[in-house]
Amino acid sequence: MKLYNTMTRKKEEFIPIQEGKVGIYVCGPTVYDRIHMGNARPMIVFDTLRRYLTYQGYDVNYVSNFTDVDDKIIHRANEEGVESSVISERYIEEAKKDMAGLNVQEATVHPKATEEIPEMLAMIQTLMDKGYAYEVNGTVYFRTRKFKDYGKLSHKKLDELMSGSRSLKVSGEEEKEDSLDFVLWKPKKKGEPAWASPWGEGRPGWHLECSCMAKKYIGNVIDIHAGGEDLIFPHHENEIAQSEAANGTEFARYWMHNAFLRIDNEKMSKSLGNFFTVREIGERYPLQVIRFFMLSAHYRSPLNFSDELIEAAKNGLERILTGYEKAKAAAERAMQAELREEERENLQRLEALKNKFEEAMDDDLNTADAISVIFEIVRLSNTTVGEASSKAYCDEFLHCIGELCGILGLETEREQELLADEIEALIEERTQARKQKDFSRADAIRNLLLEKGIALEDTREGVKWKRI
Ligand code: AMP
Ligand code: ZN
Repeated sequence: MKLYNTMTRKKEEFIPIQEGKVGIYVCGPTVYDRIHMGNARPMIVFDTLRRYLTYQGYDVNYVSNFTDVDDKIIHRANEEGVESSVISERYIEEAKKDMAGLNVQEATVHPKATEEIPEMLAMIQTLMDKGYAYEVNGTVYFRTRKFKDYGKLSHKKLDELMSGSRSLKVSGEEEKEDSLDFVLWKPKKKGEPAWASPWGEGRPGWHLECSCMAKKYIGNVIDIHAGGEDLIFPHHENEIAQSEAANGTEFARYWMHNAFLRIDNEKMSKSLGNFFTVREIGERYPLQVIRFFMLSAHYRSPLNFSDELIEAAKNGLERILTGYEKAKAAAERAMQAELREEERENLQRLEALKNKFEEAMDDDLNTADAISVIFEIVRLSNTTVGEASSKAYCDEFLHCIGELCGILGLETEREQELLADEIEALIEERTQARKQKDFSRADAIRNLLLEKGIALEDTREGVKWKRI
């Protein structure tokens, strides 16, 4: 498989450090609010990479953090008058719900910054010992110029950075030895969460957490480090500086960055206010449609978020699911029979298409082309699977469409929604159970309905229900 490496600006053959194993670290969201559709793009893209590598037989160790200590979280906590852990815990749960809706698999580990403080203190100490870090008034800085490779990922020259960063030098940071130096540890301010450290109470800098979690859960050298392209500089550049200075070895072999999800040709972001949360969009479309929409473009191409494009994705996905259902219906009726000559030939075409799907995915995860191949397979299925088909023939198509959709994280089996009559019947059964004081049965029915997204409300006029 070839992957585009931001570091070398080339597509390179992917060679894992250890045969058969891949360690991937993906920078996760800062949890101060519900995630927006832009945040969902790296989640979906790199979950698809993980699924494809797993399909190729790799044992994938997938690590993705939650940044649960940050200015924005503290700000929100102060607004609500609660501890910042209340905010971060709430939005971690919300993010997990959205990720499940988008069919993003749980990471092997989802570390949280606040639970990795000892590792961060240890890394700062190592950097101090090696002369890469210094403390002034309770703040610990990284001595950027000492790290000779600084700028190698973002292809920036130190001199360019110098002129840019002079204006960035904000009050309170005049104490830095050099304007390029960045924070590893910041001292506690009133009302902020803080941890004890040899440099006084405080909290870690954002860049440091990823360096430490990648080291702890994957190792000093990781195979693939990924995130949105806004993270290349300074976040990933700083991670490289910290990790390589502390560990004395290369940090990540392949750097992958997704392009932005845009809206009216601007990056979708919280700060610009031009965002939709995943939850909002989930009320209008099945989230599977959103996943399909995200994968319909190559991850390094910008993608515009518009109703027309989502409608097109909805229709496209519908074509695939209908094709699958048609093949399934045919398989249920089909007879066990020897494959006919013509079927054999078509199965060879199917095999060739499957190879074409893999070639697309092998070419730097080209999900756009991979989806076109699924359309070709569905077309072949629609035009050749029918009443006269043998069971084995139908099954090959079913299996193939199901498997390839599965790699993209798309479910081919639709969840059956409960119909109103079925709901009414269950409510009546629950009413009878309650009359007979069989409360455990009554509760079981209520829970069953809840699982199917139906909430009950006991009112004076009887039981009312609604879809949630
Ligand atoms: P944040 O919570 O801002 O640190 O973002 C979490 C992840 O979402 C990072 O990998 C970002 O690069 C990514 N991200 C944020 N906005 C967008 C966007 N509009 N399009 C694509 N990725 C984004
Ligand atoms: Zn990170």
